[in-house]
Amino acid sequence: MRFPCPLREGGRGRGLRASAREESKSPSASEPAHPDAPAARAETTPSPYPPPAGGGGTQKEAAALRRRAWEAAAAVVDPELPVLTIADLGVLRDVTVRDGQVEVAITPTYSGCPAMNVIALEIGLALDRAGIGGAQVRTVLSPAWTTAWLTPEGRCKLAAYGVAPPQDGAGRRALFGAETVPCPQCGSVHTERLAEFGSTSCKALWRCTDCREPFDYFKCH
Ligand SMILES: [Zn+2]
Repeated sequence: MRFPCPLREGGRGRGLRASAREESKSPSASEPAHPDAPAARAETTPSPYPPPAGGGGTQKEAAALRRRAWEAAAAVVDPELPVLTIADLGVLRDVTVRDGQVEVAITPTYSGCPAMNVIALEIGLALDRAGIGGAQVRTVLSPAWTTAWLTPEGRCKLAAYGVAPPQDGAGRRALFGAETVPCPQCGSVHTERLAEFGSTSCKALWRCTDCREPFDYFKCH
């Protein structure tokens, strides 16, 4: 995805690559070695092949770029739950570097989640700010995202934010016949569901019958 961002540095990067390619051309490989040429000339016989499109970055450079891109993307927050990063949510699946090009793979929390377009835009902007221009954001729909991908840290942040984290412990519903959602304010299990959909369709609206506080519950799926 391309974003009209004045901070984009892709243009500059391409310029460097183009000039590097021109330099590598000058002493041609097919040129016979002149006996009078300095010895150093022979040692730097250029490759007959042009450098890779990524500017000839080594594997080490690609790994460092991938790490920087991952860190920048991982800090992007969910627009609906700004306390959670896309890494906390498990939405950030992978970051790959091929020929110097960064691709970020994300899996939406549910298909058609409108927040995903915003997240893709935010990833592009975050990478631009990190000096990584022209990154692609790819949406991966399979396997589908599940609340099990929420990290433990993400669950703690949700509860601290006042949203009950998903109760997707093994067989919980089967065991009790109904969902038990502890109140994120006081911890009481005396809670009731007020509405299937809360502030967003990812959440349901619940209320604690002990402290009387309503709260959002991040639904399992
Ligand atoms: Zn309560």
